[in-house]
Amino acid sequence: MADQLPSRSENFAEWYNQIVQRADLADYGAAKGTMIIKPYGYALWENIQAYLDKRFKQHGAKNAFFPTFIPVSYIHKEKEHVEGFSPNLWLVTAGGGETLEEAYAVRPTSETTINSTVGNWIQSYRDLPLLLNLWNSCFRYELRTRLFLRTSEFLWQEGHTFHATWDEADAYSRAILNDAYLDFYINAAALPVLAGKKSEREKFPGADITYTLEGLMGDGRALQSCTSHNLGSNFAKSFDIRYLNRSNELEYVASTSWGLSTRAVGAILMTHGDDKGLLMPPRIAPIQLVIVPIFRKESEQQAVLEAAKRIQRDLDNYRVELDAREGLTPGFKYNDWEMRGVPIRLEIGPKDIEKNQVVLVRRDTGEKKFVPLAHLLDEVKQMLNNIHDTLYARAKKFQDDNTFIVDSYEEFKERTAGEGGAGFLLAHWCGDRDCEEAIQKETRATLRVIPFDRVKETGKCVRCGNASEGRVVFAKAY
Ligand SMILES: [Zn+2]
Repeated sequence: MADQLPSRSENFAEWYNQIVQRADLADYGAAKGTMIIKPYGYALWENIQAYLDKRFKQHGAKNAFFPTFIPVSYIHKEKEHVEGFSPNLWLVTAGGGETLEEAYAVRPTSETTINSTVGNWIQSYRDLPLLLNLWNSCFRYELRTRLFLRTSEFLWQEGHTFHATWDEADAYSRAILNDAYLDFYINAAALPVLAGKKSEREKFPGADITYTLEGLMGDGRALQSCTSHNLGSNFAKSFDIRYLNRSNELEYVASTSWGLSTRAVGAILMTHGDDKGLLMPPRIAPIQLVIVPIFRKESEQQAVLEAAKRIQRDLDNYRVELDAREGLTPGFKYNDWEMRGVPIRLEIGPKDIEKNQVVLVRRDTGEKKFVPLAHLLDEVKQMLNNIHDTLYARAKKFQDDNTFIVDSYEEFKERTAGEGGAGFLLAHWCGDRDCEEAIQKETRATLRVIPFDRVKETGKCVRCGNASEGRVVFAKAY
């Protein structure tokens, strides 16, 4: 390889910036803050999409499309919503050479446009629940950008559902968090996350409750990995969405919205890599296994390539790449695929063909294994599962090692001092919004999540000393 990657432990930010571009995942677009997603990065996103889309559909959601342009007056209909989104809004003010009478907002999220529409679709309780999901891109003006983490346009899905009661909306938003998002992070991305809800200050503008999953990245910073909102009847009231209930009375619907974006790609990259490069979680890896044919003489080439192709056909249930590039040494290829994080490398040469075997090498441990061809399918299946488990266990250990119980504000300030991440800080908090804001101003740590599984214990707020019902999770975040 050309230059060494910067070390992950010494310069995490630079490691991330370089690996994203060197592994051919993404690059910056011409317009400020935009992102080009290259085929290798897009394949990862497609696998994420496929995993989630199936689970959304299991929960009855149907995919639809809504326009990118939204009359700006729609955005202004929900008071908290407009306050939350105005600073990042892109506006289209002209079209066809003419100034528009009313500017269009370029979709920052679709609550307003959906709510202005579905009122016509919902007449009675028989039309409920209405369960929609959109796969699209979203636009938010950003001053400081970073590929996959913060860009002016990003890909995501946004679910929007409408229910007869607040309780039904709440149950649905929690079901998506647990059965779709949490399942995805644990069982597909091998990424441990904390599940819970946001504080009033951190919740989505216009929501009653925001549920969230928070991950801890390799530098000790937290990343909000998705959110699911119970919007109550806030948007229904702003957009007058009512239905006739079973007693023939008009009632406001309750709604939810929920989203996971290409930030999830950033989370995966930042969680699993090492100083050699990326480490793709096997179940969603764009390439699960790469075959590197090995031969010294040209006379060996044909037989080795033919054997490699046969193996590729045998493994057609997996995402397999045959690296038949000419003029590159096996050593160069090994480094290249290690940098891209392919979970398993399969080597085959003339001696292996004689012995009816191949060599499998694990990206996560470097372990090398001679495998008889007759056992190859079983071995690959088992190895991919083992790699998944190893990645999850490593990430969980990192999270545990970087989670701290903090009881004094002095220690809280010490842990959050400096430029790096601070890990997850479990501290008592009084529940007061101003106190939460002061903590952020004084330490740059934000309240990430009030965990579902938090232990009820009486204590004193880490900053002001007032009574607290239990610990919440603070962190410096992306
Ligand atoms: Zn306090």
